[in-house]
Amino acid sequence: MRPMTLSALFAQVQQLDGIGPKLAEKLARLVNNTVARSDPRVIDLLWHFPSGITDRRQQPRIAEAIEGTIATIKVRVASHAAPPRGNKKIPYRVTCADESGEMDLVFFRGQKNFMERLLPVGELRIASGRVEHYAGKLQMTHPDHVVSEEEFKTLELIEPVYPLMAGVSNKIMRRGITNAIELIPPLEEWQDEAWLKQNKWPSFEDALRMVHLPQDYDDLLPNAPARQRLAFDELLASQLALALMRNSEVTGTGRALLIKNNGLRDKIISKLPFKLTGSQEHALDEIYRDMASKNRMLRLLQGDVGSGKTVVALLAMAATVEAGAQAALMAPTEVLARQHFADFQEIAEQSGFSVALLTGREKGKTRLALLEALQKGEIDMLIGTHALFQKDVEFADLGLAVIDEQHRFGVQQRMALQAKGKNTDADVLVMTATPIPRTLLLTNYGDMESSQLTDKPAGRKPITTRVLPVERIDEVLHGLERALATGTQIYWVCPLVEESEHIDLAAADQRHAWLKRHFGEKVGLVHGQMKSDEKDAVMQDFTDGKLGLLVATTVIEVGVNVPNATIMVIEHAERFGLSQLHQLRGRVGRGDQQSSCILLYQGPLSKTGQSRLKVIRDSEDGFRIAEEDLRLRGGGELLGTRQSGLPGFGIAQLPEHGDLLSAARDDAELILLRDPTLSSPRGVALKTLLYLFERDAAAKLLRSG
Ligand code: ADP
Ligand code: MG
Repeated sequence: MRPMTLSALFAQVQQLDGIGPKLAEKLARLVNNTVARSDPRVIDLLWHFPSGITDRRQQPRIAEAIEGTIATIKVRVASHAAPPRGNKKIPYRVTCADESGEMDLVFFRGQKNFMERLLPVGELRIASGRVEHYAGKLQMTHPDHVVSEEEFKTLELIEPVYPLMAGVSNKIMRRGITNAIELIPPLEEWQDEAWLKQNKWPSFEDALRMVHLPQDYDDLLPNAPARQRLAFDELLASQLALALMRNSEVTGTGRALLIKNNGLRDKIISKLPFKLTGSQEHALDEIYRDMASKNRMLRLLQGDVGSGKTVVALLAMAATVEAGAQAALMAPTEVLARQHFADFQEIAEQSGFSVALLTGREKGKTRLALLEALQKGEIDMLIGTHALFQKDVEFADLGLAVIDEQHRFGVQQRMALQAKGKNTDADVLVMTATPIPRTLLLTNYGDMESSQLTDKPAGRKPITTRVLPVERIDEVLHGLERALATGTQIYWVCPLVEESEHIDLAAADQRHAWLKRHFGEKVGLVHGQMKSDEKDAVMQDFTDGKLGLLVATTVIEVGVNVPNATIMVIEHAERFGLSQLHQLRGRVGRGDQQSSCILLYQGPLSKTGQSRLKVIRDSEDGFRIAEEDLRLRGGGELLGTRQSGLPGFGIAQLPEHGDLLSAARDDAELILLRDPTLSSPRGVALKTLLYLFERDAAAKLLRSG
């Protein structure tokens, strides 16, 4: 459990003065860019760093003030000019002067009484704000500050500026954060003192204060000492968490599967309508070697969409069956699980192994019968969704757990499945089509071994990608008409509108109706809100060719395989992440036909927006796209979903903090080597660090310590 000392930081923001439910709701959308929390907490405010400063250090005389800049000017108040009563268009003007010239302070809707108190004639005042010239005279409209000489002594000349939204002003943000800082409890230092000194880094609390009170532009940069320290804290927490998981998973308890050939794999391979590629063979060698070893396998199989990961999984699972154990394959969606099942079943009948499907839809008697057969060992391979790791699912002897599209699952979910091994945890193979750049591999997968499918199956033609403004949609429509006439199948993808699934759906619905008007009954619709049997029925009709054009929300992103579909239109392509576009596009180009992808965008596009679409247009290399995505986004959450137990990074930026990453990794290893249960004084402080960065799953592994 999270230590009590941290409870004030993890309390809801509404605990803070001046923050009510309405504001909390707005803050939820604003703070902590890695997750949209409906219930932002105090700590989420602390992680919301300023992105700029307002610099009031320029204190020119009136004649020297530079148009358009923020100036802080000492003046003597000369005269007031109130607008005629009831005239709201003419502002209230206060004329001031110094020895160099005159300037007007301008207030719309200025109240006479108030103005005379704020700026008494004959007195010295310091006004700070943006200056401009109006009718040849310097003026400051709505100064940010008007203070006396006495008050000026405490005026902040540099103010942090936060990323904001309507209804959350900088002032509100600052007040919330200032209050939040006061709630930081006294914490024992978890970093090595010598390392802190060497880097000239402040303590955790000081670092947070400094980040929120920048004294200069340099303080906003990733390499400012305070920001570096906090980034390192975050990286250390993540590396420590990974090392703890790794230790608990890989060491000691392993199981050596006997990799032997009793003909099953040969039979399967002989039934395949293709030859395995070199990298498929190579990946399988690595997998068999891991399975045969006494250590538990924890291997990541990376391969672009369409690179043929499924058959690698099938053969690894077959090897498990040959060794006398069972294997499981977990997929993130019902559609995908069913598709894998259908593929496997066909081969199973001809090759002589048994395969079953378990999803949320298998219920009652069917489910019970299936669970019994599984427990008796009558089922060799089990395919399914999240239903697989539920408590009452028991295997006779689970030897291998394969997790498809692993980024859709949390670490705990993976661990729950592998824990179903007989005496020890099962071997684990996780698969991903999201290519992971090396730096991120290190941050998110630690020492997981990895295999790559680098060559595309033979016979694939490159996909032609075009980027078009949505204004040209009619042209696209004519093209599709011709294609449909020749029997080509088409995907039409509508974007996910994040704020609301309803809007999302409405857009897809509308597009569906529109396309139906043009093409008639050949047009189908599939979206995430449909019941899974409805979804399956539509997908089946598309697979069978009964539908020619399938309008879809991003539910088709993952894994679906219809080789005859060779055209994809993606609407509002500018709203998608690059890796997501790449994944979507991978749904076409699966057969031997020439395929094409049309990216429709809604202009105007920003510079980055243009570069992003250009990257997708010009490249089909998932790794390159991922690297570019990382570069264009300047780090952040590349992997899309935040994983439970392994949250994304909020502070550490890649590549800017890349050097710190390897240091954090070495540090984590050294720490656990010396103090594996984190029970020394520094160890205890480090446990707090784990909770502070929400690596709770890893911290829980230390219960005994
Ligand atoms: P992904 O890696 O995206 O999961 P799949 O495993 O679904 O890719 O494979 C995509 C398609 O490629 C499938 O139709 C599969 O049968 C086919 N395939 C797999 N391996 C090969 C190969 N070596 N040669 C030709 N086609 C292959
Ligand atoms: Mg796949």
